[in-house]
Amino acid sequence: MAEASKALSPLDAKRQIEYMERVFSLNEKHAIDMGLRRKVFVLTLGCQQNEADSERLLGMALKMGYEKTEVPDDASLIIVNTCAIREHAEKRALSLVGQYKHIKAKNPELIIVVCGCMVVQEHRVNDIKHRYPYVDILFGPSLIHKMPEHIYNRMSGSKRIFDPDDKIYTFAEGLPVCRESSFKAWVSIMYGCNNFCSYCIVPYVRGRERSRKREDVINEVRELVEKGYKDITLLGQNVNSYGVDSGFDYDFADLLSDIDKIEGDYIIHFMTSHPKNASKKLIDVMADSKHVARHFHLPMQSGSDSVLRAMNRRYDFEKYIGILDYIREKMPECTVSSDIIVGFPTETDKDFEDTLAALERARFDMIYSFQYSPRKGTPAAEMVQIEQSVKQERFDRMLALQNSISLENNKKTEGKTLRVLCEGESKNNTDTYFGRTEGGKIVFFEPCPENIGKFVDVNIERGDTFALYGKII
Ligand code: SAM
Ligand code: SF4
Repeated sequence: MAEASKALSPLDAKRQIEYMERVFSLNEKHAIDMGLRRKVFVLTLGCQQNEADSERLLGMALKMGYEKTEVPDDASLIIVNTCAIREHAEKRALSLVGQYKHIKAKNPELIIVVCGCMVVQEHRVNDIKHRYPYVDILFGPSLIHKMPEHIYNRMSGSKRIFDPDDKIYTFAEGLPVCRESSFKAWVSIMYGCNNFCSYCIVPYVRGRERSRKREDVINEVRELVEKGYKDITLLGQNVNSYGVDSGFDYDFADLLSDIDKIEGDYIIHFMTSHPKNASKKLIDVMADSKHVARHFHLPMQSGSDSVLRAMNRRYDFEKYIGILDYIREKMPECTVSSDIIVGFPTETDKDFEDTLAALERARFDMIYSFQYSPRKGTPAAEMVQIEQSVKQERFDRMLALQNSISLENNKKTEGKTLRVLCEGESKNNTDTYFGRTEGGKIVFFEPCPENIGKFVDVNIERGDTFALYGKII
Protein backbone atom coordinates (compact mmCIF):
# COMPACT_ATOMS: atom_id res chain seq x y z
CA MET A 1 0.00 0.00 0.00
CA ALA A 2 1.19 3.51 -0.80
CA GLU A 3 2.63 5.40 2.14
CA ALA A 4 0.86 8.62 3.03
CA SER A 5 2.80 11.64 1.96
CA LYS A 6 3.46 14.48 4.32
CA ALA A 7 3.96 18.02 3.14
CA LEU A 8 6.69 19.84 4.95
CA SER A 9 4.67 22.22 7.08
CA PRO A 10 5.50 25.94 7.35
CA LEU A 11 6.32 25.10 10.97
CA ASP A 12 8.96 22.52 9.89
CA ALA A 13 10.45 25.06 7.49
CA LYS A 14 10.44 27.76 10.20
CA ARG A 15 12.21 25.40 12.58
CA GLN A 16 14.96 24.78 10.04
CA ILE A 17 15.29 28.50 9.35
CA GLU A 18 15.87 28.98 13.10
CA TYR A 19 18.61 26.33 12.98
CA MET A 20 20.15 28.11 9.99
CA GLU A 21 20.27 31.29 12.05
CA ARG A 22 21.93 29.47 14.95
CA VAL A 23 24.62 27.96 12.70
CA PHE A 24 25.03 31.38 11.07
CA SER A 25 25.81 32.90 14.49
CA LEU A 26 28.42 30.23 15.21
CA ASN A 27 30.01 30.80 11.80
CA GLU A 28 29.96 34.59 12.24
CA LYS A 29 31.73 34.28 15.57
CA HIS A 30 34.34 32.05 13.94
CA ALA A 31 34.81 34.57 11.09
CA ILE A 32 35.34 37.41 13.60
CA ASP A 33 37.65 35.40 15.88
CA MET A 34 39.72 33.85 13.11
CA GLY A 35 39.40 36.54 10.42
CA LEU A 36 38.30 33.83 8.03
CA ARG A 37 34.95 32.52 6.78
CA ARG A 38 34.09 28.85 6.89
CA LYS A 39 33.58 27.32 3.46
CA VAL A 40 31.33 24.65 1.99
CA PHE A 41 32.16 22.19 -0.78
CA VAL A 42 29.26 20.32 -2.43
CA LEU A 43 29.84 17.28 -4.61
CA THR A 44 26.90 15.91 -6.60
CA LEU A 45 26.70 12.50 -8.20
CA GLY A 46 23.83 11.12 -10.26
CA CYS A 47 20.76 12.53 -11.91
CA GLN A 48 19.20 15.96 -12.39
CA GLN A 49 17.04 15.39 -9.31
CA ASN A 50 20.24 15.21 -7.25
CA GLU A 51 21.54 18.36 -8.91
CA ALA A 52 18.31 20.11 -7.95
CA ASP A 53 18.59 18.80 -4.38
CA SER A 54 22.20 20.00 -4.18
CA GLU A 55 21.14 23.51 -5.17
CA ARG A 56 18.91 23.48 -2.07
CA LEU A 57 21.68 22.08 0.13
CA LEU A 58 24.03 24.80 -1.08
CA GLY A 59 21.34 27.45 -0.62
CA MET A 60 20.91 26.42 3.01
CA ALA A 61 24.69 26.26 3.59
CA LEU A 62 25.13 29.82 2.27
CA LYS A 63 22.31 31.00 4.57
CA MET A 64 24.22 29.37 7.43
CA GLY A 65 27.17 31.66 6.72
CA TYR A 66 29.37 29.31 4.70
CA GLU A 67 31.10 30.53 1.53
CA LYS A 68 31.16 28.26 -1.51
CA THR A 69 34.48 26.68 -2.47
CA GLU A 70 35.50 24.36 -5.29
CA VAL A 71 38.43 23.01 -3.21
CA PRO A 72 37.51 20.32 -0.67
CA ASP A 73 40.74 20.93 1.29
CA ASP A 74 39.58 24.50 2.04
CA ALA A 75 36.15 23.44 3.31
CA SER A 76 34.78 23.27 6.86
CA LEU A 77 31.65 21.55 5.52
CA ILE A 78 31.78 18.88 2.79
CA ILE A 79 28.48 17.60 1.41
CA VAL A 80 28.49 14.50 -0.81
CA ASN A 81 25.13 13.97 -2.50
CA THR A 82 25.21 10.34 -3.62
CA CYS A 83 23.49 8.19 -6.25
CA ALA A 84 22.51 4.51 -6.07
CA ILE A 85 21.32 3.83 -9.60
CA ARG A 86 24.32 1.69 -10.61
CA GLU A 87 27.13 0.08 -8.68
CA HIS A 88 29.67 2.34 -10.35
CA ALA A 89 27.98 5.44 -8.87
CA GLU A 90 28.12 3.98 -5.36
CA LYS A 91 31.77 2.93 -5.69
CA ARG A 92 32.62 6.42 -6.87
CA ALA A 93 30.83 8.02 -3.93
CA LEU A 94 32.57 5.76 -1.41
CA SER A 95 35.97 6.32 -2.97
CA LEU A 96 35.47 10.11 -2.91
CA VAL A 97 34.33 10.01 0.71
CA GLY A 98 37.45 7.93 1.42
CA GLN A 99 39.62 10.72 0.02
CA TYR A 100 38.23 13.19 2.57
CA LYS A 101 39.68 11.23 5.48
CA HIS A 102 43.01 13.04 5.23
CA ILE A 103 41.26 16.44 5.20
CA LYS A 104 39.45 15.55 8.41
CA ALA A 105 42.77 14.44 9.93
CA LYS A 106 44.21 17.91 9.22
CA ASN A 107 41.06 19.75 10.25
CA PRO A 108 39.10 17.97 13.02
CA GLU A 109 36.38 20.64 13.00
CA LEU A 110 35.48 19.70 9.40
CA ILE A 111 31.92 18.35 9.11
CA ILE A 112 31.41 15.68 6.46
CA VAL A 113 27.81 15.10 5.31
CA VAL A 114 26.88 12.13 3.11
CA CYS A 115 23.33 12.28 1.78
CA GLY A 116 21.26 11.19 -1.23
CA CYS A 117 19.95 7.86 -2.51
CA MET A 118 22.92 5.65 -1.59
CA VAL A 119 22.57 6.19 2.14
CA VAL A 120 18.94 5.09 2.39
CA GLN A 121 20.09 1.49 1.93
CA GLU A 122 20.72 -0.27 5.21
CA HIS A 123 23.92 -1.98 4.08
CA ARG A 124 25.37 1.39 3.02
CA VAL A 125 24.35 3.04 6.30
CA ASN A 126 26.26 0.26 8.06
CA ASP A 127 29.26 0.74 5.73
CA ILE A 128 29.40 4.43 6.58
CA LYS A 129 28.89 3.78 10.29
CA HIS A 130 31.71 1.30 10.58
CA ARG A 131 34.15 1.90 7.73
CA TYR A 132 33.94 5.69 7.46
CA PRO A 133 34.06 6.88 11.10
CA TYR A 134 35.01 10.40 10.00
CA VAL A 135 31.60 10.94 8.34
CA ASP A 136 29.60 13.15 10.74
CA ILE A 137 26.09 13.28 9.30
CA LEU A 138 24.05 11.04 7.03
CA PHE A 139 20.52 11.66 5.72
CA GLY A 140 18.36 10.45 2.83
CA PRO A 141 16.96 12.48 -0.08
CA SER A 142 13.56 13.20 1.51
CA LEU A 143 15.21 14.80 4.50
CA ILE A 144 17.50 17.35 2.93
CA HIS A 145 15.56 20.12 4.68
CA LYS A 146 16.84 18.78 8.03
CA MET A 147 20.49 19.55 7.26
CA PRO A 148 20.59 22.80 9.32
CA GLU A 149 19.31 21.03 12.44
CA HIS A 150 21.80 18.19 12.01
CA ILE A 151 24.72 20.54 11.44
CA TYR A 152 23.82 22.66 14.46
CA ASN A 153 23.55 19.57 16.67
CA ARG A 154 26.85 18.17 15.44
CA MET A 155 28.58 21.55 15.95
CA SER A 156 27.13 21.58 19.46
CA GLY A 157 28.80 18.29 20.31
CA SER A 158 26.18 15.69 19.45
CA LYS A 159 27.26 12.17 18.43
CA ARG A 160 27.45 11.24 14.73
CA ILE A 161 23.99 11.64 13.17
CA PHE A 162 22.30 8.91 11.07
CA ASP A 163 18.90 9.87 9.64
CA PRO A 164 18.53 7.63 6.58
CA ASP A 165 14.95 8.51 5.61
CA ASP A 166 11.25 8.19 6.08
CA LYS A 167 10.53 8.66 2.35
CA ILE A 168 7.27 10.50 2.94
CA TYR A 169 8.13 14.16 2.86
CA THR A 170 7.23 16.22 -0.13
CA PHE A 171 9.08 19.30 -1.12
CA ALA A 172 10.74 21.62 1.35
CA GLU A 173 8.86 24.74 0.22
CA GLY A 174 10.17 28.03 1.46
CA LEU A 175 13.79 27.01 2.04
CA PRO A 176 16.65 28.80 0.26
CA VAL A 177 18.12 27.62 -3.04
CA CYS A 178 21.36 28.62 -4.77
CA ARG A 179 21.08 27.81 -8.47
CA GLU A 180 24.22 26.87 -10.40
CA SER A 181 23.15 28.80 -13.48
CA SER A 182 21.53 32.18 -13.98
CA PHE A 183 19.65 31.03 -17.08
CA LYS A 184 18.98 27.27 -16.73
CA ALA A 185 16.94 25.92 -13.82
CA TRP A 186 15.55 22.68 -12.45
CA VAL A 187 12.06 22.61 -10.97
CA SER A 188 11.07 19.40 -9.20
CA ILE A 189 7.38 18.75 -9.67
CA MET A 190 7.20 15.40 -7.90
CA TYR A 191 9.28 12.97 -5.89
CA GLY A 192 9.54 9.20 -5.75
CA CYS A 193 8.30 6.49 -8.07
CA ASN A 194 5.56 3.84 -7.95
CA ASN A 195 6.66 1.79 -10.93
CA PHE A 196 9.05 -0.77 -9.50
CA CYS A 197 10.84 -1.63 -12.74
CA SER A 198 12.52 -4.87 -11.75
CA TYR A 199 16.08 -3.54 -12.21
CA CYS A 200 15.65 -0.20 -10.47
CA ILE A 201 16.48 0.94 -6.94
CA VAL A 202 14.71 4.31 -7.15
CA PRO A 203 11.32 3.33 -5.61
CA TYR A 204 13.16 1.79 -2.64
CA VAL A 205 15.33 4.82 -1.95
CA ARG A 206 13.09 7.71 -2.96
CA GLY A 207 9.77 6.25 -1.83
CA ARG A 208 6.30 6.61 -3.38
CA GLU A 209 5.17 9.36 -5.74
CA ARG A 210 4.45 12.70 -4.07
CA SER A 211 3.45 15.63 -6.27
CA ARG A 212 4.05 19.25 -5.40
CA LYS A 213 1.05 21.52 -5.38
CA ARG A 214 0.35 22.94 -8.80
CA GLU A 215 0.35 26.55 -7.57
CA ASP A 216 3.79 26.08 -5.96
CA VAL A 217 5.20 24.70 -9.22
CA ILE A 218 3.59 27.38 -11.40
CA ASN A 219 4.71 30.17 -9.06
CA GLU A 220 8.29 28.86 -9.04
CA VAL A 221 8.37 28.76 -12.85
CA ARG A 222 6.83 32.26 -13.05
CA GLU A 223 9.44 33.67 -10.67
CA LEU A 224 12.25 32.06 -12.68
CA VAL A 225 10.91 33.50 -15.94
CA GLU A 226 10.63 36.93 -14.30
CA LYS A 227 14.26 36.64 -13.18
CA GLY A 228 15.28 35.97 -16.79
CA TYR A 229 15.74 32.18 -16.76
CA LYS A 230 15.55 30.83 -20.30
CA ASP A 231 15.53 27.06 -19.98
CA ILE A 232 13.48 25.44 -17.22
CA THR A 233 13.33 21.68 -16.76
CA LEU A 234 10.44 20.11 -14.84
CA LEU A 235 11.72 17.07 -12.96
CA GLY A 236 10.18 13.84 -11.74
CA GLN A 237 10.92 10.12 -12.10
CA ASN A 238 7.70 9.78 -14.05
CA VAL A 239 6.24 13.20 -14.76
CA ASN A 240 3.28 11.59 -16.54
CA SER A 241 1.84 10.51 -13.23
CA TYR A 242 2.02 14.03 -11.79
CA GLY A 243 -1.05 14.69 -9.64
CA VAL A 244 -2.25 11.08 -9.45
CA ASP A 245 -1.33 10.88 -5.74
CA SER A 246 -3.27 14.05 -4.94
CA GLY A 247 -6.47 12.59 -6.36
CA PHE A 248 -7.41 15.77 -8.26
CA ASP A 249 -8.55 15.70 -11.86
CA TYR A 250 -5.48 17.63 -12.99
CA ASP A 251 -2.65 15.85 -14.76
CA PHE A 252 0.80 16.63 -16.15
CA ALA A 253 -0.61 17.80 -19.48
CA ASP A 254 -2.83 20.29 -17.59
CA LEU A 255 0.19 21.52 -15.60
CA LEU A 256 2.26 21.94 -18.77
CA SER A 257 -0.58 23.79 -20.44
CA ASP A 258 -0.93 26.17 -17.46
CA ILE A 259 2.84 26.79 -17.31
CA ASP A 260 2.86 27.53 -21.04
CA LYS A 261 0.51 30.46 -20.39
CA ILE A 262 3.26 32.30 -18.47
CA GLU A 263 4.41 35.17 -20.69
CA GLY A 264 8.12 35.46 -21.53
CA ASP A 265 11.02 34.30 -23.69
CA TYR A 266 11.80 30.86 -22.30
CA ILE A 267 11.57 27.14 -23.04
CA ILE A 268 10.30 24.32 -20.86
CA HIS A 269 11.78 20.83 -20.82
CA PHE A 270 10.54 17.90 -18.75
CA MET A 271 11.91 14.58 -17.72
CA THR A 272 11.27 11.73 -17.42
CA SER A 273 8.20 10.35 -19.16
CA HIS A 274 7.25 6.73 -18.71
CA PRO A 275 5.93 5.29 -22.00
CA LYS A 276 3.19 3.34 -20.22
CA ASN A 277 1.38 6.58 -19.51
CA ALA A 278 2.64 9.04 -22.12
CA SER A 279 -0.75 10.26 -23.34
CA LYS A 280 -1.90 11.71 -26.65
CA LYS A 281 -3.25 14.61 -24.58
CA LEU A 282 0.29 15.42 -23.43
CA ILE A 283 1.66 15.29 -26.97
CA ASP A 284 -1.21 17.49 -28.21
CA VAL A 285 -0.50 20.05 -25.45
CA MET A 286 3.18 20.07 -26.45
CA ALA A 287 2.37 20.49 -30.12
CA ASP A 288 0.04 23.42 -29.40
CA SER A 289 2.34 25.09 -26.89
CA LYS A 290 4.47 28.16 -27.31
CA HIS A 291 7.18 27.39 -24.79
CA VAL A 292 7.47 23.61 -24.48
CA ALA A 293 10.68 22.44 -26.18
CA ARG A 294 10.30 20.11 -29.13
CA HIS A 295 12.20 17.41 -27.30
CA PHE A 296 10.88 14.18 -25.87
CA HIS A 297 12.97 11.94 -23.62
CA LEU A 298 11.15 8.62 -23.70
CA PRO A 299 13.15 5.73 -22.19
CA MET A 300 12.57 2.52 -24.13
CA GLN A 301 15.01 0.37 -22.08
CA SER A 302 14.76 -2.60 -24.50
CA GLY A 303 13.28 -3.45 -27.89
CA SER A 304 12.33 -6.98 -26.84
CA ASP A 305 8.82 -7.59 -25.52
CA SER A 306 9.92 -10.45 -23.29
CA VAL A 307 12.67 -8.32 -21.71
CA LEU A 308 10.24 -5.43 -21.26
CA ARG A 309 7.91 -7.85 -19.47
CA ALA A 310 10.70 -9.12 -17.23
CA MET A 311 11.63 -5.50 -16.54
CA ASN A 312 8.02 -4.84 -15.45
CA ARG A 313 7.81 -1.87 -17.82
CA ARG A 314 4.13 -2.48 -18.68
CA TYR A 315 4.32 -1.60 -22.39
CA ASP A 316 5.49 -3.50 -25.45
CA PHE A 317 7.47 -2.30 -28.43
CA GLU A 318 4.31 -1.78 -30.49
CA LYS A 319 2.84 0.56 -27.91
CA TYR A 320 6.18 2.38 -27.60
CA ILE A 321 6.60 2.92 -31.32
CA GLY A 322 2.97 4.04 -31.56
CA ILE A 323 3.72 6.90 -29.14
CA LEU A 324 6.88 7.80 -31.03
CA ASP A 325 5.02 7.87 -34.36
CA TYR A 326 2.35 10.11 -32.84
CA ILE A 327 5.01 12.52 -31.48
CA ARG A 328 6.57 12.74 -34.94
CA GLU A 329 3.20 13.09 -36.66
CA LYS A 330 2.25 16.05 -34.44
CA MET A 331 5.77 17.55 -34.23
CA PRO A 332 7.95 16.44 -37.16
CA GLU A 333 10.83 18.62 -35.91
CA CYS A 334 10.83 17.05 -32.40
CA THR A 335 14.07 15.40 -31.30
CA VAL A 336 13.68 12.18 -29.34
CA SER A 337 16.13 10.65 -26.89
CA SER A 338 15.93 7.45 -24.91
CA ASP A 339 17.52 5.25 -22.24
CA ILE A 340 18.55 1.70 -23.12
CA ILE A 341 19.83 -1.03 -20.82
CA VAL A 342 21.83 -3.94 -22.27
CA GLY A 343 22.64 -7.16 -20.48
CA PHE A 344 19.45 -7.37 -18.42
CA PRO A 345 19.42 -10.89 -16.84
CA THR A 346 16.92 -12.56 -19.20
CA GLU A 347 18.24 -10.90 -22.38
CA THR A 348 19.05 -13.53 -25.06
CA ASP A 349 20.94 -12.91 -28.31
CA LYS A 350 17.57 -12.69 -30.04
CA ASP A 351 16.28 -10.15 -27.50
CA PHE A 352 19.37 -8.06 -28.08
CA GLU A 353 18.87 -8.25 -31.87
CA ASP A 354 15.32 -6.98 -31.24
CA THR A 355 16.79 -3.98 -29.43
CA LEU A 356 19.09 -3.24 -32.39
CA ALA A 357 16.11 -3.53 -34.76
CA ALA A 358 14.12 -1.21 -32.49
CA LEU A 359 16.91 1.38 -32.61
CA GLU A 360 16.92 1.15 -36.43
CA ARG A 361 13.17 1.74 -36.42
CA ALA A 362 13.04 4.44 -33.73
CA ARG A 363 15.99 6.47 -35.08
CA PHE A 364 16.59 8.35 -31.84
CA ASP A 365 18.65 11.52 -31.95
CA MET A 366 20.57 10.33 -28.92
CA ILE A 367 20.47 7.62 -26.29
CA TYR A 368 21.78 7.18 -22.77
CA SER A 369 22.96 3.60 -22.74
CA PHE A 370 23.74 1.49 -19.71
CA GLN A 371 25.04 -1.96 -18.94
CA TYR A 372 22.69 -3.59 -16.47
CA SER A 373 24.00 -3.27 -12.92
CA PRO A 374 22.46 -5.55 -10.24
CA ARG A 375 20.96 -3.54 -7.35
CA LYS A 376 20.60 -5.26 -4.01
CA GLY A 377 16.94 -5.70 -3.01
CA THR A 378 15.52 -5.48 -6.56
CA PRO A 379 13.96 -8.56 -8.26
CA ALA A 380 16.37 -8.54 -11.24
CA ALA A 381 19.38 -8.82 -8.93
CA GLU A 382 18.10 -12.29 -7.91
CA MET A 383 17.90 -13.56 -11.52
CA VAL A 384 20.66 -15.45 -13.36
CA GLN A 385 23.12 -12.79 -14.51
CA ILE A 386 24.70 -12.33 -17.91
CA GLU A 387 28.48 -12.48 -18.25
CA GLN A 388 30.27 -9.15 -18.26
CA SER A 389 32.04 -9.90 -21.57
CA VAL A 390 28.65 -10.47 -23.26
CA LYS A 391 27.27 -7.25 -21.80
CA GLN A 392 30.30 -5.33 -23.03
CA GLU A 393 30.11 -6.78 -26.53
CA ARG A 394 26.40 -5.97 -26.82
CA PHE A 395 26.99 -2.50 -25.43
CA ASP A 396 29.70 -1.77 -28.02
CA ARG A 397 27.56 -3.04 -30.89
CA MET A 398 24.62 -0.98 -29.75
CA LEU A 399 26.68 2.19 -29.45
CA ALA A 400 28.20 1.71 -32.92
CA LEU A 401 24.71 1.42 -34.40
CA GLN A 402 23.30 4.38 -32.46
CA ASN A 403 26.32 6.53 -33.34
CA SER A 404 25.65 5.96 -37.04
CA ILE A 405 21.97 6.92 -36.55
CA SER A 406 22.88 10.05 -34.53
CA LEU A 407 25.35 11.05 -37.23
CA GLU A 408 22.74 10.59 -39.93
CA ASN A 409 20.21 12.70 -37.95
CA ASN A 410 22.75 15.40 -37.18
CA LYS A 411 23.84 15.63 -40.83
CA LYS A 412 20.24 16.56 -41.68
CA THR A 413 20.66 19.80 -39.71
CA GLU A 414 23.45 21.03 -42.03
CA GLY A 415 22.46 24.28 -43.74
CA LYS A 416 19.59 24.90 -41.28
CA THR A 417 19.37 27.78 -38.83
CA LEU A 418 18.72 26.58 -35.28
CA ARG A 419 17.87 28.56 -32.18
CA VAL A 420 20.47 27.82 -29.53
CA LEU A 421 20.76 28.84 -25.89
CA CYS A 422 24.37 30.04 -25.57
CA GLU A 423 25.95 28.54 -22.44
CA GLY A 424 29.52 29.89 -22.70
CA GLU A 425 33.06 28.69 -23.31
CA SER A 426 33.59 25.12 -24.39
CA LYS A 427 35.37 23.13 -21.68
CA ASN A 428 38.08 21.79 -23.98
CA ASN A 429 38.61 24.77 -26.23
CA THR A 430 38.35 28.34 -25.01
CA ASP A 431 38.27 29.58 -28.63
CA THR A 432 34.87 27.99 -29.03
CA TYR A 433 31.53 28.64 -27.35
CA PHE A 434 28.75 26.12 -27.02
CA GLY A 435 25.05 25.95 -26.44
CA ARG A 436 22.11 23.60 -26.85
CA THR A 437 19.20 23.52 -29.24
CA GLU A 438 15.76 23.13 -27.72
CA GLY A 439 16.07 19.47 -28.72
CA GLY A 440 19.15 19.15 -26.51
CA LYS A 441 21.76 18.92 -29.30
CA ILE A 442 25.11 20.49 -28.44
CA VAL A 443 26.24 23.19 -30.89
CA PHE A 444 29.73 24.75 -31.07
CA PHE A 445 30.24 28.23 -32.51
CA GLU A 446 32.50 31.25 -32.30
CA PRO A 447 33.06 33.09 -28.98
CA CYS A 448 30.36 35.64 -28.11
CA PRO A 449 30.59 36.56 -24.39
CA GLU A 450 27.76 39.07 -24.78
CA ASN A 451 25.35 36.24 -25.64
CA ILE A 452 25.88 33.95 -22.65
CA GLY A 453 22.45 33.02 -21.30
CA LYS A 454 20.68 34.27 -24.44
CA PHE A 455 19.15 32.57 -27.43
CA VAL A 456 21.16 32.93 -30.64
CA ASP A 457 20.43 31.76 -34.18
CA VAL A 458 23.17 29.51 -35.47
CA ASN A 459 23.65 28.43 -39.05
CA ILE A 460 24.73 24.79 -38.89
CA GLU A 461 27.69 24.03 -41.15
CA ARG A 462 28.54 20.51 -39.95
CA GLY A 463 26.66 17.80 -38.11
CA ASP A 464 28.81 15.25 -36.31
CA THR A 465 27.91 12.21 -34.18
CA PHE A 466 27.79 14.03 -30.85
CA ALA A 467 27.55 17.71 -31.80
CA LEU A 468 26.78 20.33 -34.43
CA TYR A 469 29.14 23.10 -35.58
CA GLY A 470 28.10 26.45 -37.01
CA LYS A 471 28.20 30.23 -37.07
CA ILE A 472 25.95 32.74 -35.37
CA ILE A 473 23.86 34.78 -37.80
N1 SAM B 1 12.41 7.28 -14.13
C1 SAM B 1 13.12 7.26 -15.32
C2 SAM B 1 12.48 6.27 -16.29
O1 SAM B 1 11.89 5.29 -15.90
O2 SAM B 1 12.68 6.46 -17.45
C3 SAM B 1 14.56 6.90 -15.19
C4 SAM B 1 15.29 7.13 -13.99
S1 SAM B 1 16.85 6.38 -13.86
C5 SAM B 1 17.59 7.59 -12.86
C6 SAM B 1 17.67 6.67 -15.40
C7 SAM B 1 18.00 5.44 -16.16
O3 SAM B 1 18.93 4.64 -15.47
C8 SAM B 1 16.86 4.48 -16.44
O4 SAM B 1 16.02 4.92 -17.47
C9 SAM B 1 17.58 3.21 -16.80
O5 SAM B 1 17.87 3.16 -18.18
C10 SAM B 1 18.88 3.34 -16.02
N2 SAM B 1 18.95 2.36 -14.93
C11 SAM B 1 18.16 2.28 -13.85
N3 SAM B 1 18.51 1.23 -13.08
C12 SAM B 1 19.54 0.62 -13.70
C13 SAM B 1 20.35 -0.53 -13.41
N4 SAM B 1 20.13 -1.27 -12.35
N5 SAM B 1 21.33 -0.84 -14.28
C14 SAM B 1 21.55 -0.11 -15.38
N6 SAM B 1 20.84 0.98 -15.71
C15 SAM B 1 19.83 1.35 -14.88
FE1 SF4 C 1 13.21 3.40 -11.88
FE2 SF4 C 1 11.25 2.52 -13.45
FE3 SF4 C 1 10.74 4.35 -11.55
FE4 SF4 C 1 12.17 5.02 -13.70
S1 SF4 C 1 10.02 4.37 -13.71
S2 SF4 C 1 12.64 5.52 -11.57
S3 SF4 C 1 13.32 3.19 -14.11
S4 SF4 C 1 11.37 2.25 -11.22
